[in-house]
Amino acid sequence: MKDCLTPDYMFGHYYEITPEFLKSIGVRAVLSDVDNTLAPYEQEDPDERIVKWLASLRENGIEVAFVSNNHAPRIERFNKDLGVRAYPDSGKPGKKTLLRAMKEMGVTIGETAMLGDQLLTDAFAGKHIGLPAIIVPPIKDKTNLFFRFKRLCERPFIRKFAKKHGYQPYMAFWKIR
Ligand SMILES: [Mg+2]
Repeated sequence: MKDCLTPDYMFGHYYEITPEFLKSIGVRAVLSDVDNTLAPYEQEDPDERIVKWLASLRENGIEVAFVSNNHAPRIERFNKDLGVRAYPDSGKPGKKTLLRAMKEMGVTIGETAMLGDQLLTDAFAGKHIGLPAIIVPPIKDKTNLFFRFKRLCERPFIRKFAKKHGYQPYMAFWKIR
């Protein structure tokens, strides 16, 4: 069975993903999750770091689109001054919105990557249509039982990545040591 859950790349924070890295893997478009990937749920507006990161990608010819399962008011508010292509209520892990975003951006599967903090939604959505999954640990995870269960399900796949690429301190989040 095709592995749609193990990350292809992992970083401690979204802003460590540089244009140089993306170019080195042939990527010129990034479909990015918003909540807990770029900002915690309760942060309504982007901070300076996000603005700078988006600008540096744009300057290097890499387009970002927000593909979020959160609703339009949240994403529209966050995106107000960014003007990024944005797709709220995206229905991840479904593939429909990802394919629509790529079509509207004029990019192919081979030149696009999926960025997010969740394997069951973000990684799966990207990987089952052939996009590499770039995963960061959630900025500030919810602590309810459902979210803890999801993280437990992710653990073997993070462990698999760590075995192949080496353990990183940010993986402590998944308690895989
Ligand atoms: Mg998220």
